[in-house]
Amino acid sequence: MKPPASVTIGGKRWRIKWCPLSTLPPDRYGDCDNPEKRRKTIRILKDLPDDTMIRVVFHEVIHAGLWPVECETVDNIAEAAASILTRLGFTRKENA
Ligand SMILES: [Zn+2]
Repeated sequence: MKPPASVTIGGKRWRIKWCPLSTLPPDRYGDCDNPEKRRKTIRILKDLPDDTMIRVVFHEVIHAGLWPVECETVDNIAEAAASILTRLGFTRKENA
């Protein structure tokens, strides 16, 4: 399965870029452009373990949809949602 190349949130579209490790700062697993930016991108490291990937995807999508919310609050929500899905056993299909 091919990873998604874009996502639309509240009528705004972000390109999704699945990044190799060296392309983001060492303390980051992902980032997200401001919703007001043209040609917005959400960047996510592509080789993360499934539980971390779920958390990072939630984190960046919440930032995109709720831009004014501070990162710590975003991460609390992302961690809780990722924890539920991980405990339910959600994993990636091969080649995703
Ligand atoms: Zn954040």
